[in-house]
Amino acid sequence: MELKEKKNNLIKHLIESGYLKTEKVIKAFKDVPRENFVRAGNKNYAYSDTPLSIGFGQTISAPHMVAIMTEHLKPEKTDIVLEVGAGSGYQAAILSGLVMKVYTIELDPNLAEFAKSNLKHSGIKNVEVIQGDGSRGYPEKAPYDKIIITCACHEIPNALIDQLKTGGIIEAPVGSSWRQELIVAIKTKKGLEEKNYGGCIFVPLRH
Ligand code: SAH
Repeated sequence: MELKEKKNNLIKHLIESGYLKTEKVIKAFKDVPRENFVRAGNKNYAYSDTPLSIGFGQTISAPHMVAIMTEHLKPEKTDIVLEVGAGSGYQAAILSGLVMKVYTIELDPNLAEFAKSNLKHSGIKNVEVIQGDGSRGYPEKAPYDKIIITCACHEIPNALIDQLKTGGIIEAPVGSSWRQELIVAIKTKKGLEEKNYGGCIFVPLRH
C-alpha cells in the first residue's frame, strides 16, 4: 500500500474513533507529512497509529495522542503556543497550520536539530525550535495563549503556569515516569481549573 493510502486510512480511523473532531484539525493532519518526522528506516510505518523511536531514547507520539492533545488545545488562528518537548517536531507541525506561532523547546541538542530539519524540509516557517530545559518555559516570548507539554511531569511546572495568559489552556501528562494522566487546565484568576482525561504514557521530562 502506498503512503498516501495509508495516510487516508489512518485519518479515517482517527475520525471514526472520535480522536479527530474538528474540520480544521482534520485538515492539519491531512496537510502534514508525518513521514518527514520519523527516521528514514521508519517511513513505511509513518501512518501506523503507534509511537515510533526517533533515537536518543525518545519517541514521536502516536497519531491518536497528537489528535487528542491538539483538539484539547482548541487552537485559534491568533494563538501563540509554547510546546515543551519538540522531539521530532511533528506536534508543532500539526499546530503550525492552526495557530499564528509555535515556540517549541527541546532538551536534547540532537533532537532539536532533528526537529528543525524536519520542519524546514516540510516547508514550515512559523515554528521556532529552541534548545533548552522547557520546565523553565521560554519567558522571552511569554505570555502564551496555550501551552502543551509532551513529556511526563510530576506536576505542571510553576514557571509554565506563570507564562500562560489568564484564560489560556495548558495540557500535560502528569504522573510518574511510567504512567500519567492527561491533564487539561484553564488558567483563571483563582488558579488552574483542571480536568483529567485519563491514562497515558509519555517519556519523562528530564533536567
Ligand atoms: N512532541 C514530540 C514528542 C515528544 S517526546 C513529537 O511530536 O515528536 C518528548 C520529548 O521531550 C523528547 O524529545 C525529550 O527529549 C524532550 N524533553 C524531555 N525533557 C525535556 C525538558 N526538560 N525540556 C524540553 N524537552 C524535554
